Amino acid sequence: MTDIRGWVSHGAKQKLEPFTYDAGPLGPEEVEIGVEFCGLCHSDLSILNNDWGLSQYPVVLGHEAVGRIVAAGDQVKGLGIGQRVGIGWTSASCMHCHQCMTGDHHLCAGAVATIIGHRGGFAEKVRSHWAWAVPLPEALDISSAGPLLCGGITVFAPLAIYDVKPTDRVGVVGIGGLGHMALQFANAWGCEVTAFSSNPSKMEEVRKFGAHRVVSSRDRAGILKAANSLDFLLVTANVPLDWSAFLQTLKPNGRMHLVGAVLEPIPVGAFDLIFGQKSISGSPTGSPAAMSSMLDFAARHNIAPQVEHFPLSKVNDAIAHLAAGEARYRIVLDADFT
Ligand SMILES: [Zn+2]
Ligand SMILES: [Zn+2]
Repeated sequence: MTDIRGWVSHGAKQKLEPFTYDAGPLGPEEVEIGVEFCGLCHSDLSILNNDWGLSQYPVVLGHEAVGRIVAAGDQVKGLGIGQRVGIGWTSASCMHCHQCMTGDHHLCAGAVATIIGHRGGFAEKVRSHWAWAVPLPEALDISSAGPLLCGGITVFAPLAIYDVKPTDRVGVVGIGGLGHMALQFANAWGCEVTAFSSNPSKMEEVRKFGAHRVVSSRDRAGILKAANSLDFLLVTANVPLDWSAFLQTLKPNGRMHLVGAVLEPIPVGAFDLIFGQKSISGSPTGSPAAMSSMLDFAARHNIAPQVEHFPLSKVNDAIAHLAAGEARYRIVLDADFT
C-alpha cells in the first residue's frame, strides 16, 4: 500500500483539488517516479473537459512527468533507483502484440494512457511500466524537458517515420505548444522551414525558433504564397483550416501530416491528392525508442520548449492560463509538496 498525494478532478470541467490515493502494491514490472516537474499539455485540458469522451473520473492529470525512480518492481529491466526518467502520454503497453514486438509500442491496442484509467503526474509520484520510463540525457535541462515527452515526440516522430530529408522543405502549421518545438526540430534536421502563423505579431519569435520564412495562415492568398514549395507539411493546429489551399502548398509526392486534434472531419477532394500524388496522414506520439532518440537529438541540438513555470499548488491558475490561449509556449508545473 502506498499513499500518494496528488491533484484530482472529480468530474468534467471541475477544478483540481488536493487528494491522497492508495496506489496499491507496485507491480513487478513497474517503476515509481518521484515527480520533480510535469508539463501541462493541451490534452490534459481535453481530458479534464471530456472533449474526447474518453475521460475517467476522478482523474489525476499530467503526462509529461520528469523525476527520479524511487521504487522498482523486481522484474524491472535496465533502470535503477535514483535514475532520472520521463513519462509521456503512455505509461504501459502489452509488450507482446505485433506492434509492441516490432517497436511500435505506442500503437499497441492495450496501451495505457497515463491520464486515462491511470493516475498521472500532477502528484508526488507517478508509476509506469519500465519500458515507458525513458532515461533523460544528462545534458538536457530537466526543468523544461517535460513537454518534450508528449508534445516533443509528437512532432519529432513524423520526421523519422516518413524519412524527411535535410534537403526537404518542411512547413509547420500552427505555432503554439507543438509548433514551436516542430520548428526547432525541423531546423536542426537540416530542412528549410516555413512557419504558417495566424498571428503576425509572433513573426520575430517564430524566426528565432528556426523558421526561415513565415507565412500568414489566415487567408487563402497568404497560404498560396507558399504554393508548390513543400515536401512535408506538419499540421499542429487543432482547428479547421483551408485544407485545399494547404494541399496546394505541397510539391508533387508531398505529404500533409496531422498531429493536431482537429475534431471536425477534413473535406478533401480526390483530385487534390491524385494530381501530384499527394498523401495525408496522421500519427500520435511515439515509441519509447523514438522518445529516446528524440531526447538525444534535443540534447545534441539544444532544442528545448519555451516554458512558463507554475508551482503545482497553482495548477488551477495554470489550467486557466492554458485554456485562455495565453501559454507561451508550454507550461511546466513544479512539484511543491511539503
Ligand atoms: Zn500531451
Ligand atoms: Zn502491445
